[in-house]
Amino acid sequence: MSDSQNGSARGPLVEHSIQSIREGLIAKEFTAAELAEQALAFAEAENPKTNAYLTLSPQRAQAAAREVDRKIAAGADPGALAGVPIAIKDVILTRGVRTTCGSRMLEHYMPPYDATAVERIERAGGIIIGKTNCDEFAMGSSNENSAFGPVRNPVALDRVPGGSSGGSAAAVAQGTALLALGSDTGGSVRQPASFCGVTGVTPTYGRVSRYGLTAFASSLDHIGPFARSVRDAAILLRAIAGRDPCDATSAFAPVPEYPAALTGDIRGIKIGLPTEYFAQLPGETGDLIHRAVDVLKSLGCEVREVSLPHTEYAIATYYIIATAEASSNLARYDGVRYTTRANAETLSGMYRETRGAGFGAECKRRIMLGTYVLSAGYYDAYYLKAQQVRSLISRDFAHAFAEVDAIAAPVSPFPAFKIGEKVDDPVAMYLSDIFTITGDLAGIPCMSVPCGKTAGGLPVGLQILTRHFDETTMFRVAHAYEIAS
Ligand code: GLN
Repeated sequence: MSDSQNGSARGPLVEHSIQSIREGLIAKEFTAAELAEQALAFAEAENPKTNAYLTLSPQRAQAAAREVDRKIAAGADPGALAGVPIAIKDVILTRGVRTTCGSRMLEHYMPPYDATAVERIERAGGIIIGKTNCDEFAMGSSNENSAFGPVRNPVALDRVPGGSSGGSAAAVAQGTALLALGSDTGGSVRQPASFCGVTGVTPTYGRVSRYGLTAFASSLDHIGPFARSVRDAAILLRAIAGRDPCDATSAFAPVPEYPAALTGDIRGIKIGLPTEYFAQLPGETGDLIHRAVDVLKSLGCEVREVSLPHTEYAIATYYIIATAEASSNLARYDGVRYTTRANAETLSGMYRETRGAGFGAECKRRIMLGTYVLSAGYYDAYYLKAQQVRSLISRDFAHAFAEVDAIAAPVSPFPAFKIGEKVDDPVAMYLSDIFTITGDLAGIPCMSVPCGKTAGGLPVGLQILTRHFDETTMFRVAHAYEIAS
């Protein structure tokens, strides 16, 4: 294994792209089975450093790889993701491969079916090599809420990789997988992408089926890709997007050929900078974002300020809506289905014991908060009010997009912080998501693309947001920036 990492014909995965793997397979430089074996061995060897994977899936990977090799031998199209090693966040169901959601509650859970996104990856020839660590039920910003230990950031091992999809971001940054899937409810794809220096995409709400994505806050949950380049992220999104009869909220909108639009020419695109985001952007992160905006200007974009006046209410709004929906979604883990059951004398005792032992502190905090905001007498004051503010936040974006085609913004106010630094202060942790939550509340596409590193070597991400279903413009801007910077 380490031989091939040190320069066999296959080369390390980090030097590959979807395209180069395809070319290598077709030129018979390597087989998909060899590549899968190499990726699995590398993931296993590297995992003690980061704890990015909770489970590897060698049998499933080898079966998928043999199928790709068979198609290539037969001269058939092996698919858009042929032979590409892909990691899947452990809140996304994989038939027969343990899916824990980062929780003791599901420590032994074997899903009986695949998420639609997983099924589409394999249909496109992708190779699922394992399941990645994450905050419990995707609740968190640092991956420290996993029941199976934190993930360490491969760029700086004493720091968090971000959350909640920290394992997926770390796997791609480490090069144990070329691509990964995460889920984003309030920033959980973009923020870890930014912290680990990879690309992360939150598509329009409804663009990718949520069938088989364990529900956290259903009106906010998205599945989204991680990749080492904008083009690869666009190819992965194209493979998993589109209407799915198993998810009534998945959109009928046709899925464009995103990669074909990546010409590098973004002259004349109008880009808005939200005054409210830049007003509170300190230090080195601010400098890097401003420098990225200068690159966009040099590429011929017209840059102007826009206002998103309700931004200051976003965190409060999110933590009412997300906890309310979570309190309802997590009610299903009751010891009767899915889970390990605690022994108790009575039925209510069994529920109490199972849920008491199965959920970690953050899940319990959110279930209590969510139950409170939904309770009779408080519903109008909290939940209903939050829904009204959510509409105002969406309207802010609609007004901005009447003037500009895309918005450029920071992803996080700060780069990756130290493990343990914020664990005792949930509110400080919640504030990490100040720039990402608004995109989820509005349901618009948004992504993080790396825009350099601090003097201390910590990656920073630039966020690009566009109108509903206009992932094409988002990818065009991010790609042009990526190749120019
Ligand atoms: N950090 C946010 C939270 O804790 C977002 C999580 C997510 O997007 N899944 O809820």
